[in-house]
Amino acid sequence: MNQQTLLEDSKNYLWLPFTQMTDYERDPLIIESGEGIKLKDIYGKEYLDGYSSLWLNVHGHRKKEMDEAIKKQLDSIAHSTLLGASNIPAINLAKKLAEITPKNLKRTFYSDSGAESVEIAIKMAYQYWQNKGYKDKRKFVTLSNGYHGDTVGAISVGAVDIYHRVYGSLMFESIKAPFPLVYRNKEETPDQIRDAALAQLRNIFEEHHREIAGITVEALIQGAGGMNIMPSGYLKGVEKLCRAFNILLIVDEVATGFGRTGKMFAVEHEEVEPDLMTIAKGITGGYLPIAATMTTEEIYEAFYGEYEEFKTFFHGHSYTGNQLGCAAALANLEIYERENIIEQVQEKMAYVSFELQKLKKLEHVGDIRQLGLMCGIELVLDKETDEPFPWKERIGYKSTLRMRELGMLTRPLGDVVVFMPPLASSKDELRKMISIMKQAIHETTEAFVKVI
Ligand SMILES: *Cc1c(COP(=O)(O)O)cnc(C)c1O
Repeated sequence: MNQQTLLEDSKNYLWLPFTQMTDYERDPLIIESGEGIKLKDIYGKEYLDGYSSLWLNVHGHRKKEMDEAIKKQLDSIAHSTLLGASNIPAINLAKKLAEITPKNLKRTFYSDSGAESVEIAIKMAYQYWQNKGYKDKRKFVTLSNGYHGDTVGAISVGAVDIYHRVYGSLMFESIKAPFPLVYRNKEETPDQIRDAALAQLRNIFEEHHREIAGITVEALIQGAGGMNIMPSGYLKGVEKLCRAFNILLIVDEVATGFGRTGKMFAVEHEEVEPDLMTIAKGITGGYLPIAATMTTEEIYEAFYGEYEEFKTFFHGHSYTGNQLGCAAALANLEIYERENIIEQVQEKMAYVSFELQKLKKLEHVGDIRQLGLMCGIELVLDKETDEPFPWKERIGYKSTLRMRELGMLTRPLGDVVVFMPPLASSKDELRKMISIMKQAIHETTEAFVKVI
């Protein structure tokens, strides 16, 4: 098919997620292939994958061992249902996940996306208390600016206003607790910010614990909410409050899991043991849609009994525990061991931190936030006052369009430029991407300032 037809067909038949289609029509991009950390479009132009194909990719594209594992699985079977039956890759992966996640987590419940893994965690937490006879524990606490996916349950425990506003009456109500935001708070130290947020959470728990089933929280860093890093000790503090008030701790590791922050899971930084933990994105190295909700035997047992007792967890998706996906995940995790991916990330994150200092000097870079290979660069009109650019100018978006021209892909969160390279990126590639970001940010912000 020729390029022009593809272009027209894409405009006529597709509706892209999280995309205003007029943006796509103005600046369309159609990917044809990938190799290593590069993507190639239908015109043959290459791009460094600066956002890991939306925070998923780990070892690069067309990783030989991954490709082979999937082909090998195809020779046995692609898919059979997990409803009432199981399969070999699903069993092996569940065992492996029990080994690599925090000690208390043993059970795997599969699904196909991060949002689903969160829906499942919420329903499990809710039904856990129902099954245990605590009929009033039905509410959830969530942090301001938290993001847990886009299904109705997931947005109900999320709080990114721009994504959720229009669906208000469709959502169930959660109790919002403040996130300990450090940037733009010049009066307090990170420790003070942490302690204040924990004190407010304690107040909420004290007043409402009889009706609270659980709290949903991202692990150490809020992703889609703007790459906001929690002050050290905050997550541990949340865990302690959960234990004190008999509230389930649901930690969302969809973005942070699988080495992204320099540990296999971000909860390891503070030795936190969630009651429920959601994982997705990196689980198959960015190959196939597998997600999982991990939980404890304590929670599992609350659902265990004879059918007539009505304790069954009535939830499942058609492709849950898909063999191809589980085989890809197993191959992915083998590469972590063979190539010491976590150690590599620790070295690369220090390098990235060093290189990102070059951006800090730019006139309109207000803040650089980094946890492992998860980075956000916040662009501001005025560095002294942290005044943002007028939102309608879409400086973040325009900067990333310029990056695209220069040969790198990423997507911003408002005026926060996201840098989430595949874990396998070489130092040379990391340096190249940072240099493209620097040039694009510089040119885009200067062009705006000249106009006003
Ligand atoms: C991406 C993300 C989700 C949603 O995952 P999908 O696979 O896109 O549904 C949930 N939680 C967090 C923290 C995420 O970053």
